Amino acid sequence: MLKRTLTTAATSKPFRLAVVGSGPAGFYTSHKLLKESPTTQIDMFDSLPVPHGLVRYGVAPDHPEVKNVMTTFDKVAEDERFRFFGNVTIGKQNDDNISKSIAVHELQRYYDAILFSYGASEDRQLGIPNEDVYGSSSARTFVGWYNGLPRDRDLKLPLEDTDTAVVIGQGNVALDVARVLLSPIDELRKTDMTEYALEALSKSRIKHVHVVGRRGPLQAAFTAKELREQLKLPGVQFRADHTWIHDQIQQHSDYLAKRRPLKRLMALLDQEQNKQGDKSWHLQFLRSPVEILTNNDRVAGIRYEINRLEGPVEKSRAVGTGEYETQECGLVLRSIGYKSLAMDGLPFDVQQGLIPNLYGKMIDHEQNEMPGMYTAGWLKRGPTGVIVSTMSDAYETADTILADLRKDAPMLSSQNHADDDLFQLMYQRQIRHVSYDDWKRIEAAEFQAGAKLGKPREKFTTVEHMLDVLNR
Ligand SMILES: Cc1cc2nc3c(=O)[nH]c(=O)nc-3n(C[C@H](O)[C@H](O)[C@H](O)COP(=O)(O)OP(=O)(O)OC[C@H]3O[C@@H](n4cnc5c(N)ncnc54)[C@H](O)[C@@H]3O)c2cc1C
Repeated sequence: MLKRTLTTAATSKPFRLAVVGSGPAGFYTSHKLLKESPTTQIDMFDSLPVPHGLVRYGVAPDHPEVKNVMTTFDKVAEDERFRFFGNVTIGKQNDDNISKSIAVHELQRYYDAILFSYGASEDRQLGIPNEDVYGSSSARTFVGWYNGLPRDRDLKLPLEDTDTAVVIGQGNVALDVARVLLSPIDELRKTDMTEYALEALSKSRIKHVHVVGRRGPLQAAFTAKELREQLKLPGVQFRADHTWIHDQIQQHSDYLAKRRPLKRLMALLDQEQNKQGDKSWHLQFLRSPVEILTNNDRVAGIRYEINRLEGPVEKSRAVGTGEYETQECGLVLRSIGYKSLAMDGLPFDVQQGLIPNLYGKMIDHEQNEMPGMYTAGWLKRGPTGVIVSTMSDAYETADTILADLRKDAPMLSSQNHADDDLFQLMYQRQIRHVSYDDWKRIEAAEFQAGAKLGKPREKFTTVEHMLDVLNR
């Protein structure tokens, strides 16, 4: 059911914007534009039938309060000038089958401007031997698996075969996965974690999780809230080289005095716990993985080079000492960052993994601004930052678009404003697009399935099951 036709003039000529990606960046940019520009009309596309990006598929199931932003996104979607086209992939990335998607140059025919906010869907690799062996995976895939992301639902991990896991990286995602591995299963059952993940985790033998970083405690990227949660896990002891951590903190007390959040974080780390329990999590510093060790084609351990820190504390580098250490483990999860993919027809800075831009306006390889082409979120500034920082970043891009509208800057020279042609194109390519009302029906079915299991929702984990709801 169409809410409007693109050719319907409001008070003056409509500004037609396509948004590629329905995560926080796409929604917050839309939110500001709809609020401040009455002539704006937005069509938001997502390759999945369901919206909200990493809010649904990244944020940990035991952080339901973070997911409340979905209510704000619902309000945006209620605007008459907004439409959602889920299950529609835009552009070609890697070996995507273009016959099932809409190319960038095709989309450009229908809109005055396009906002690309398709996030960072891949992960960075360590580049060490045996990284792809059974038992070694990216935290991104593990997160996608427990959150029910269709592409990750079939992940198999040796959770029943080992009691020790190593997480490489010391950011919030690393703590999310460590917490999930060590949380009491009955706590996780109260969340919207998928049933198959709960089933697998209920049989898990993992008792010890090592969270390993190249540098020292002052360079750790996790934040106090996540660390506090980790320290509070029932029956899980915290282990680290407390003397060395304490020395590092003392040594850099002047540096910390000017950085209150980091100082608070260090104060949390600088306490030995006297907790009982047969589980533990270990923070290990100054270790760079050099090889995953195997036995019968599965993870048996990991070998590190031991580092020392060089340079001033704010820029300290990890430098290998030539000394090595091995550790036994059956599971390795690398959590060293997400990565955006280039898209055919768009500029891309491979080094930084983002779309070159000036306050959200794309710039081409000759440093020229590209009329009507914008970006926001992780694709614009690289895959770091929480939802609040993504919101500020999205608002900045919205301001850039609003400024361009005010000064009547050149936009895309779209030739075709007829909805019918866009729908015809999707029909020809057998793309079954999903509206926001459709999504709400899928969501209602998820709530219903969840209620039967005593949890907030049970997600559909295949596209077919999501679409089946709409055929009922
Ligand atoms: C594991 C994890 C946990 C996190 N936990 C928290 C937390 O607790 N609190 C917090 O504040 N922040 C958290 N964050 C950060 C937060 O999720 C990000 O800041 C935010 O989601 C980035 O928004 P985005 O819109 O740029 O990208 P995304 O949220 O990734 O959205 C991108 C969207 O684009 C779609 N897309 C991709 N390719 C295409 C295509 N070709 N065509 C159409 N659509 C496409 C995707 O399906 C997706 O819906 C977490 C991040 C991760 C990875």
